[in-house]
Amino acid sequence: MRFISATYIFDGKRFLNDRPVLVLDDNDCFLEYRKRNSVEKSKVEFYDGIICPGFVNAHCHLELSHMKGLIAEEGRLLNFAKEIITKRRTFSKEQIQAGIVEADKFMWENGIVAVGDISNTPDTFEVKQKSPIFYHTFIELIGFNPEHAEGAFALGKELQRGASRMDLINSLVPHAPYSVSESLMKKIAADVEHTKYPVSIHNQESAQEDLFFQKKEGDFVELYDFLKMPIDFFEPSELSSLQTYLAHLGKCSNLLLVHNTFTESEDIVWANNFYRELYWCLCPNANLYIENTLPELNNFIADNCRMVVGTDSLASNNSLSITNEINVLLKFYSWAQIADVLKWATYNGAEALGIEDRFGGFIKGKNAGINCLSYNRNQLVLEKKLA
Ligand SMILES: [Zn+2]
Repeated sequence: MRFISATYIFDGKRFLNDRPVLVLDDNDCFLEYRKRNSVEKSKVEFYDGIICPGFVNAHCHLELSHMKGLIAEEGRLLNFAKEIITKRRTFSKEQIQAGIVEADKFMWENGIVAVGDISNTPDTFEVKQKSPIFYHTFIELIGFNPEHAEGAFALGKELQRGASRMDLINSLVPHAPYSVSESLMKKIAADVEHTKYPVSIHNQESAQEDLFFQKKEGDFVELYDFLKMPIDFFEPSELSSLQTYLAHLGKCSNLLLVHNTFTESEDIVWANNFYRELYWCLCPNANLYIENTLPELNNFIADNCRMVVGTDSLASNNSLSITNEINVLLKFYSWAQIADVLKWATYNGAEALGIEDRFGGFIKGKNAGINCLSYNRNQLVLEKKLA
């Protein structure tokens, strides 16, 4: 048995006032809290800092880990997309695998216990199967031409069968509003409707996304030109991207909207009214990397959005560290409460992925990880992984 306590104890939702002692069994599974003075002092491992449950990285692309440092920063989403498309497969299998292995290990060592991870390929499946990290694999579908919906869906199903054969928990998801047709989105929604699994979509990562849906103008028209894919079938809706596509996703389970860099207040209020199980994922380092800007966090807080935190991929971030994401949030939104940000990075992330009975807190009979953090000058540092 282990007895652990610290100056501050954060349980995934709040700081515990009475600073209890956490009792763990020999496998580091949480058993119970005990009052401080009920445990012999010499038996207690006491840490000067904050202890909290393991982090949940709600949005990652582990399979792009070999692309670290390859794409120039602040090049806009259009350039980023072009570079990803042309560069991602110019690597050997060995290089791709080495990147995946290293990134998985890095996340584990940096206090991440669960990840919502996008897969367009089976490249990560073996590493995820063996990893101590829990992965929810989002099998991501792309197909903007409605005539290709059937084919894109079939490809996704095939990839999904591969993941399921390896016992990876997974669900089909659309990539982004500008890359998935209404018919493909509806097929995805029907597929996940009767499961409890979450769905994710990249949302309003660029200001150009709304322009595309409102007027069929801007960078995305250029992107399809670059890809030599005619989009004559596409009619602008005159609405924002979010207000155009959300209805197509039906009423699936938890929906993670990722990035939201250019989501306006009006859209946030509308979406929260329209769709109850929404989670809004912040990937601040990736936003700075690609568009050199951040979402208007005030607007999300004002409408009581459930926020979660993700690293995105090493193609658009210098590290897959949740503490780095938290520190960017604390730096740019100096009014943000540390308890709120920690909740987004632990309990909310677990709830979004539907694994809150296993991660995101100190849960009886479970080892959901324990991180020991120091907090100095508005910066969090992971000092030690305790479990
Ligand atoms: Zn992403």
